Amino acid sequence: MAAAFALVCVSAVAYGLLVATNRPETLGSEGRPPPTETAPVSSEDSTPEEPAKEGTNDTHATNPTAPLPPPGESCDDPRVLVGKRHALPPDYAPSDLASLMAYGVPIYGGDHLLREDAVEPLSGLVSEAASEGHELLVISAFRSYADQQNNFAHFTGIYGDDAEIVSAPPGQSQHQLGTTIDFTNAEVNYELLPAFGETDASKWLEANAWKHGFIITYPDGDEQGTGRQWEPWEYRHVGEELAGQIHESDMSLREFLTEEGVRPLC
Ligand SMILES: [Zn+2]
Repeated sequence: MAAAFALVCVSAVAYGLLVATNRPETLGSEGRPPPTETAPVSSEDSTPEEPAKEGTNDTHATNPTAPLPPPGESCDDPRVLVGKRHALPPDYAPSDLASLMAYGVPIYGGDHLLREDAVEPLSGLVSEAASEGHELLVISAFRSYADQQNNFAHFTGIYGDDAEIVSAPPGQSQHQLGTTIDFTNAEVNYELLPAFGETDASKWLEANAWKHGFIITYPDGDEQGTGRQWEPWEYRHVGEELAGQIHESDMSLREFLTEEGVRPLC
């Protein structure tokens, strides 16, 4: 179910781009009205971050003086940087995934999984938003390496070499961490659209998500660094302490993890 729904999620993201190019009959047919936005949409599953050095995934390649991560760090560490510069291993999946449905977290479509430590903060965040009149539903959460392989293969079948415009290669999606969610609501017709960034719910998230330990992954203003468009719908749980530090620093998640040299390898 998670795999199938993740595909729907990414299909929805891709739809805006498809409207502007060729619209294959296979997309946008999930029984929901097609989005009205026509602007190309990128997702965390899309365009490259800063270019990686040829043939290396070594995050220390450009900064040999950066301290090596302490031994014992793993992909479970909330500070792991994920993207072109550091892909997650194919066999990595968190061992503590929990059902959002079981915890009563509002979801769109089928159930989604998230790491246990992130569920309660997410529940608190969504409840507080609701108490202030903002609807937030989770449309995507954990996505396995295999799920992402399927997504990427799907889009490779459509776009060939340009597939990375709409889907991250396996290992490079934030969703594999099990701490990242995509939000949606009725104001954007339960899709993932740039228009979400204009909603009051999105503005509430910008101001308050960090208090619950969540940080936006691809913020407005860091397009140069991430290589991605602003994704107002995607947040990653890093814990209250780290989220507070990042908020205080005025840096993006990517900048903070990079500049503080706290990127554990896994
Ligand atoms: Zn996402």
